[in-house]
Amino acid sequence: MYEHCPHCGLRYEVEPGYFVGAMYVSYAISGGVALVIGFLLFYFGGDPEGWVYAAVVAPVMLIIAPINFRISRVIWLYYVAGIKYVKGL
Ligand SMILES: [Zn+2]
Repeated sequence: MYEHCPHCGLRYEVEPGYFVGAMYVSYAISGGVALVIGFLLFYFGGDPEGWVYAAVVAPVMLIIAPINFRISRVIWLYYVAGIKYVKGL
């Protein structure tokens, strides 16, 4: 991620450790994805054994990690810091 906004030069990390809070957003996103996968396996996969749930959820978590990392920071910036995207700036 950029340290500063390429358009207006805004420093994203307002203070040291500012993005620690994005960890909670990330946790909520991964929890939601894991829950959806769990329900899908339960209802459409015929409720497989426990290890199957883990074997499916773990790789998906690794695959979505880079996206989740960025989305969480964006959500954190947008809703906590109140930074808004202005089109055409
Ligand atoms: Zn900007």
